[in-house]
Amino acid sequence: MAQLGGQPIFIMKEGTERTRGKDAMHNNIAAAKVIAEAVRTSLGPRGMDKMLVDQFGDVVITNDGATILKEIDVQHPAAKMMVEVAKTQDSEVGDGTTTSVILAGEFLKRAEKLLEQKIHPTVITEGFRKAADKAVEILNQMSIDSGIDDYEGLKNAAMTCMSSKIVSESREMLAELCIDAIKAIAEKDEEAKWVADIDKVQIQKKEGEMIDDTKLIKGIILDKEVVNPGMPKSVRDAKILLLQSAIEIEKTEFDSKLQITSPEQIQQYLDEEENMLRKMAEKIKNSGANVVVCQKGIDDMAQHFLSQAGILAVRRVKKSDLEKLSQATSGSIFNDLDDITAEKLGKAGLVEERKIMGESWIFIEECVDPKSVVILIRGGTELIVDEVERAIHDALCVVRDIVEDGKIVGGGGAPELETAIKLREYASTLGGREQLAVEIFADSLDIVPKTLAENAGIDQIEILMKLRASHQKGNKFAGFNLENGEVVENMMQDGVVEPTVVKIQAIKSATEATSMILRIDDVIAGAKTSMPPPGAGGMPPGMGGMGGGMGGMGGGMPPMY
Ligand code: ADP
Ligand code: MG
Repeated sequence: MAQLGGQPIFIMKEGTERTRGKDAMHNNIAAAKVIAEAVRTSLGPRGMDKMLVDQFGDVVITNDGATILKEIDVQHPAAKMMVEVAKTQDSEVGDGTTTSVILAGEFLKRAEKLLEQKIHPTVITEGFRKAADKAVEILNQMSIDSGIDDYEGLKNAAMTCMSSKIVSESREMLAELCIDAIKAIAEKDEEAKWVADIDKVQIQKKEGEMIDDTKLIKGIILDKEVVNPGMPKSVRDAKILLLQSAIEIEKTEFDSKLQITSPEQIQQYLDEEENMLRKMAEKIKNSGANVVVCQKGIDDMAQHFLSQAGILAVRRVKKSDLEKLSQATSGSIFNDLDDITAEKLGKAGLVEERKIMGESWIFIEECVDPKSVVILIRGGTELIVDEVERAIHDALCVVRDIVEDGKIVGGGGAPELETAIKLREYASTLGGREQLAVEIFADSLDIVPKTLAENAGIDQIEILMKLRASHQKGNKFAGFNLENGEVVENMMQDGVVEPTVVKIQAIKSATEATSMILRIDDVIAGAKTSMPPPGAGGMPPGMGGMGGGMGGMGGGMPPMY
């Protein structure tokens, strides 16, 4: 509310909350720190899991930063920005979500101290931007070359990223499976660079059996069953008809009446229908197809004819699955049975119905296109299967990151420590207030090894001292191996490996969010409208003119009924 000549002027709606200046900033930083604090204990292989229960009572057990933050319903706008950090990290590189959020929390915590020393936010954000650019440079420089042919590097990275998850016992086998999957779908683009689109790896999951029974299947899985018990359950050398239209007699568009005057006519009518369906089945048979995958329905009578012809049929398959099948089996999708030609049928070595936990699924294997792969996830319970899916997602992303970017670093806090040391050297070349900002940026990076040690219940300061000393001696990948609790000179030799892009992206997303939050000095929150907003509509007819005439003030008036 502004004051002009003693007369209050309403600019905003009544109930609008506004915090400004320092208050707004501290408020935002506090909220962001709470979010960082919430995921802190889940970092690293010794990190704990969280059990999240939503309003419907559904439970999720996870250690994945992005998932934790997605599940908790955050209200505060600055806290929401932190959730965005995790989301960006997840969509860009797929791993390092917890790290990015913890980093952002630490950046803000330390920036707050500079603010208290009356350093302007823009000086801090400018310093942070420079520091982040430099950090990217340092990380790229310290990296080791890797890529699609570096099996050991890929496997270690995939295993490292799964070491903090419930699946850690089975991580070796899962890592191999993820590499096989990515190798199957990876291709070179026009510039001869490797690209791997992880959406091409189909994921299916079903509780039951054990995590170790998770399999990579070269082909496609449909969660459907063979439509008729008389049909074969397994077909070798399949010629697959992909059909978009129904195998039924088309119903007329309009309601129509059929006048039947004698019993013979009924028989005639039914015979006619049967004939049409028989013809349809014959067309399919004559095309040479021995499998039909149909997007729509298949009439009972048609099913019978198809069974007699020894054809395996599946109905009501999703359009997207039909498209995937078309790609995998290089078959065309048909709309009209008259158009079918033998050479346009899809081809696969084996189509088979298998029962998994009492449910029938159709497996289409040995497809023409070797790029079709499915990971069929198994595990004791639904909760486990879901967490395995998240772990596999992370591992697929990590393998993809390395295949596409070709760079790796040792993990366990080593890259953060090394970057911090180099950044402090860089800071000393800057001078002035910017130097302070770059220094606190560097100090913030230490939160990663610190938190890893803290979660393992080990004295942070002592470990940090030892690690720094080792780095000063030139061991750029010196870190703390949580598997055996030892400080090691080269984490890479211990198989703790991460894609460089994951580390870079964590710093980038954390810096971006920090700068955004630091630039805010005014928070204007509109009033929550739980009842219909008071306005012209709710006023007695006589007052209509006034509501319109006073424009923005209308909302500031007490509601009238
Ligand atoms: P994020 O969501 O950030 O990926 P994680 O819980 O997956 O968080 O933990 C990742 C961190 O754990 C990385 O810094 C990684 O280097 C570290 N880490 C993984 N395995 C080990 C290990 N054996 N020893 C030490 N640190 C490890
Ligand atoms: Mg991870």
